[in-house]
Amino acid sequence: MTERTWQAASIAILGLPWDEGSSFLRGAAGAPARIREALHCGSANLCAETGLDLAADTRWSDMGDVTLASGAAGRAQIENAVASLLAQGTRVLALGGDHSVTYPILRAYARAYSGLNVLQLDAHPDLYDEYEGDRFSHACPFARIMEEGLARRLVQVGVRTANPYQRQQATRFGVCMVEMRHWRPDLSLDLHAPLYLSLDLDALDPAFAPGVSHHEPGGLSTREVLCILGSLPAPLVGADIVEYNPRRDPSGITAMLAAKLLKELLAALLASPTWNI
Ligand code: MN
Ligand code: MN
Repeated sequence: MTERTWQAASIAILGLPWDEGSSFLRGAAGAPARIREALHCGSANLCAETGLDLAADTRWSDMGDVTLASGAAGRAQIENAVASLLAQGTRVLALGGDHSVTYPILRAYARAYSGLNVLQLDAHPDLYDEYEGDRFSHACPFARIMEEGLARRLVQVGVRTANPYQRQQATRFGVCMVEMRHWRPDLSLDLHAPLYLSLDLDALDPAFAPGVSHHEPGGLSTREVLCILGSLPAPLVGADIVEYNPRRDPSGITAMLAAKLLKELLAALLASPTWNI
């Protein structure tokens, strides 16, 4: 086994304009462009809450969007784009797209990092074997991820829609599901390096994040999500922000939320030394 060292490395923002996995409403493909627009709209500075000025920090860059074909070819393009960045020692902060993008992202990550721990913030478990005949639906990515062994450990926070079938699936795959009804701000999460964070914006209450396809009341507040991001139990090797749907966000308020979470996740990634294999 080769020796592992921790070192500083660059972060790439990668847009994935993809909503083929969306079961209820399309629109998430338009998310990366709208989140970037909000990030640079001039109403806020580019500082994270700690004061880290991302405008002056040269350790990250926006690689733009991946041009995606349809179906399996598009999923392969996502996997290859992430894999080629990881091969250069660049960690990825992906902007979905619906949640189905996380499966090809983690196919690339699992090759670069063994023993991946994944924290999924989500109203939904996304553990269906197939949904409406689609095994690559945004309702299924974590079934694919767990059956392929891409994550050693999966912890879900914010879940409030688990039906008996998805509970069985969670048990079958050994998923730690922290349901929203049991979540407390002081809960410590049993997660270890290397840690990947998948942030489905419907984890937030629709009062805070109305611009998502599935409005599921009873979720996390913006401040609660920021507290989770600010107290992660292990250094981050990558992250995604998914399920923003601009078609449900006429005021742009959820785009601003996504842009803020993007800044805070960038800061968390920059504060995390790289797990260099
Ligand atoms: Mn999801
Ligand atoms: Mn969800």
